[in-house]
Amino acid sequence: MFKKLALIGIGLIGSSIALAARRDHLVETIAISTRKAETLQEAESLGLGDIYTLNAAEAVKGADLVILCTPVGAYGDVMAAIAGALEPGAILADVGSVKQYVRKVVGPLVPQGVHFIPAHPIAGTEHSGPSAGFPELFEGRWCVLTPDAESDPVAVDRLTSFWGAMGSNVEAMDAAHHDMVLAITSHVPHLVAYNIVGTVADLEAQTQSEVIKFSASGFRDFTRIAASDPVMWRDVFLTNRDAVLEMLGRFLEDLSVLQRAVRLGDGPALEAMFTRTRAIRRSIINAGQETAAADFGRPHGGDKPAEGSEVNIEVASPVREHGGGDDA
Ligand code: NAP
Repeated sequence: MFKKLALIGIGLIGSSIALAARRDHLVETIAISTRKAETLQEAESLGLGDIYTLNAAEAVKGADLVILCTPVGAYGDVMAAIAGALEPGAILADVGSVKQYVRKVVGPLVPQGVHFIPAHPIAGTEHSGPSAGFPELFEGRWCVLTPDAESDPVAVDRLTSFWGAMGSNVEAMDAAHHDMVLAITSHVPHLVAYNIVGTVADLEAQTQSEVIKFSASGFRDFTRIAASDPVMWRDVFLTNRDAVLEMLGRFLEDLSVLQRAVRLGDGPALEAMFTRTRAIRRSIINAGQETAAADFGRPHGGDKPAEGSEVNIEVASPVREHGGGDDA
């Protein structure tokens, strides 16, 4: 399908692409570049690619598919490094969780003849780094492409086939619409999780240890989401500000309505609301985007504490300093 794939950034998403592309014979050669020598070494010890270099321009030389897999805040620097080395006719894509910002920052730096097609696989876990990847990550998950009117249809088709071959359902969408949809389905939920776990982190020590000791499933699930990587999520909120603020405004209005129902002891209002939300959960399961099983059916390996056991926030936090999100 492609001769040479260059992955710039090799964390959860980049390594999953490398593993899936290799498994499905979608590329002949995989070149991997990243910022830190130790991350590159880790990628090499895992055998994720064929060429390993800290020089991103070197990696993209001769590549007919280049995918940016760093946090979006790094795209400007990465483009400054690789723009001059991109091959005419190559497809330049990304995996970033926001799309208008990506077009604004990357678009002007794309050389004539290179096909820039932003993309976002809506798949992830709270883990990060090269070892976090697994080839099944994209199976049955959506990958949203945000081409514009000038995008070359053949290049869009090729990228669609690439993601489809890795198991994704692919859909094209306007970048602004993507950012609004993801603000409510992913970005605001992460903000809520960071906030509720932050509230516990601010409690005085005695109460905090009790919250952790008696942690029930609702809070436990929030801690998993709030363990997502700080840098990646910082970049999401810095680069999708308008859509997040719009959806956060609606969320806060609705929260006030719930607050009022609790204060007034309005049982019918609360029950009606919870019945509506239960139906949304069912429709997500019916749409194949979730399972009814605990831990949301994600392959987290053996790191999940047994039901009813204590959850330690420190353990739930990512040990790496980069990347990571949850279906960002
Ligand atoms: P990750 O596991 O932390 O990997 C990030 C990679 O980018 C690492 O290899 C890191 O390498 C590299 N990197 C970080 N800053 C860099 C810089 N300034 N210059 C060059 N390389 C840099 O992150 P991820 O979860 O794969 O996320 C990557 C992208 O996927 C993000 O744009 C995110 O929005 C998007 N995404 C994530 C998810 C998710 O759930 N995680 C889902 C969909 C999309 P070093 O160690 O060398 O710094």
